[in-house]
Amino acid sequence: SQRPRHVRKMLREILGKKNFSYLEAASELALSRRQSVYLVGGIVRDLILRTPNFDIDLVVEGDAQPFANALAEQLAGRLRFHERFKTGVIILPDGLRIDVASSRNEYYESPGALPSVTVGSIKRDLYRRDFSINAMAVSLNTFELLDFFGGVQDIRDRKVRVLHNLSFIEDPTRMFRAVRFEQRYEFDIGDQTLKLLRRARDLDLLQHISSQRIYDELRHMLNEEYPSRHIARLFELDLLRSLHSSMGFDRKTLELVSSMEDLLVVSDFLRMEDLRRDVLYLAILLRSLKPEQIIDIPLLQELSRRDRQLIALGFSRSAELLQCIHSEGKLWRKLRLVSQYENDIILLAMVRSNSQQRSWHFLRDYLRSYANTLPILRGDELIKMGVPEGPAVADALCMLQAYIVRRGNNRPDRDEEELFVQRIVMPCLTRR
Ligand code: ATP
Repeated sequence: SQRPRHVRKMLREILGKKNFSYLEAASELALSRRQSVYLVGGIVRDLILRTPNFDIDLVVEGDAQPFANALAEQLAGRLRFHERFKTGVIILPDGLRIDVASSRNEYYESPGALPSVTVGSIKRDLYRRDFSINAMAVSLNTFELLDFFGGVQDIRDRKVRVLHNLSFIEDPTRMFRAVRFEQRYEFDIGDQTLKLLRRARDLDLLQHISSQRIYDELRHMLNEEYPSRHIARLFELDLLRSLHSSMGFDRKTLELVSSMEDLLVVSDFLRMEDLRRDVLYLAILLRSLKPEQIIDIPLLQELSRRDRQLIALGFSRSAELLQCIHSEGKLWRKLRLVSQYENDIILLAMVRSNSQQRSWHFLRDYLRSYANTLPILRGDELIKMGVPEGPAVADALCMLQAYIVRRGNNRPDRDEEELFVQRIVMPCLTRR
C-alpha cells in the first residue's frame, strides 16, 4: 500500500530516525509556508525497494531559495545556492547533505548541453527524468506518493524504462545509467527501451557530450559493488567502444575485472580508504593501449595527473613488480621492493598473477599485515646505532621488518630490535 501513513513509516525505516527528522522539519516548513515541496529521485525508488538511501533530494514548487534558506536556518546547516541553476545544497552539522531544487521545466538546447532552468510544475519536473523508476516523488505536504509514469509497476516488474522515445537522444549518458540501474537491482532494460538504446548508440551521440558528464556516469558504475556485471553488460551492448575504440568485448579483460572485483570484495583487510576503484578498473579496461595513447584520451582529462598515470602505467608497472619479487629470494629484499610501489599497483599485480603463485600470497600478506608491521626503531635511531645514512637505512628497516614478520605473534620489543640490528643487520651491511 502507498497510503500516506504507510509512506511515512517506510521513509522512517529507510532513512533512520535522525535523517527522517530532517524530512519532518522540511515537511512542517512546507506546510507553514504554504509551499509544495517534494522528495524526489533515487530515494523514492529505494523507498519502494526498501533499500537504505540517505540522499535527500527535494524539489520546491516555485523558487527554492527562500525555502532552502529557512530550512538551513532551522536545521543549523549551511546553504550554498546556485542562482543560475536555482538549486542549492544544505550541509548539516552532522555532514548530511540535503539537495534543494526549484521544480524545473528544463529544455535541452542541444543534445547533451546542460539544461536551462525555468520554474515549472512537479509533473513536468518528473517527466524530465531518466526512467520511470527514478521519476516518482513523495509530497512532503501530504506524504502522498506521486507516480505519474508507472514507476511502482516497473519496480514490481523489475524493468528499467524510459519515459519517452527521445530520452536517450536528449541525453545519451542515460544509456550508461540504464545499465547501471539494471545491473545494480538485477532488473531488465525493457524491450522498447532496449531498442531505443541501441538506436541511440548507433547515432554516435556521445561525441557531443562533455567528458566530465560521461566520466561521472562511468565512475558511478565502476564504483558499484559488483562492477563486473555492469562491464559485461556494457560489452554486450557495445557501449564501451563508443568511449574508446579499443574497448570492445574481450574475454580476458572481463576475467581480470572479475578478479579485481573478487579481490576488492574480500579486501576488508586492505583499509585503503583512498583507493580509486574506477581508476583500477580503467587500468584493466585500457591495458592494451600504450601509455602515450592513454594519457591523451579526452575522457580521462577529468582525472588528476596521478590517476591518469596510474591508468596508463599501472598494468605494466604491476608486471614489473611481479617479475622483481619473483626473482628475489630474501624476504627483506622483497619487502624493500614492494614498499616502493603504491597499493594500487600491488592490487593490479595480484590480479594478473593468481592465487596458486607464491608471489600472490606474498603480496596479499604484504597488504594484509606486513605493510603495518613497522619496526619500533626509527631511521634516525638506526643512524645513531651506526647504520650509514642513505639507502642503507631503508635496507636496515626492511631487514628489521622481515625479522618482525618472521616472529609472527611473538613481536620483538625495542631491546630485541636493537640486538637484531647489532648482531645481524650491521655485519650484513658492512660486509657489502
Ligand atoms: P544513486 O542511488 O546511484 O545515487 P540516483 O537515482 O540518486 O541513484 P543520481 O545520479 O544521484 O541517481 O540522480 C538523482 C536523480 O536525478 C535520479 O533519480 C533521476 O531522477 C535524476 N537524473 C539524474 N541524472 C539524470 C539524467 N541524465 N537524465 C534524467 N534524469 C536524471
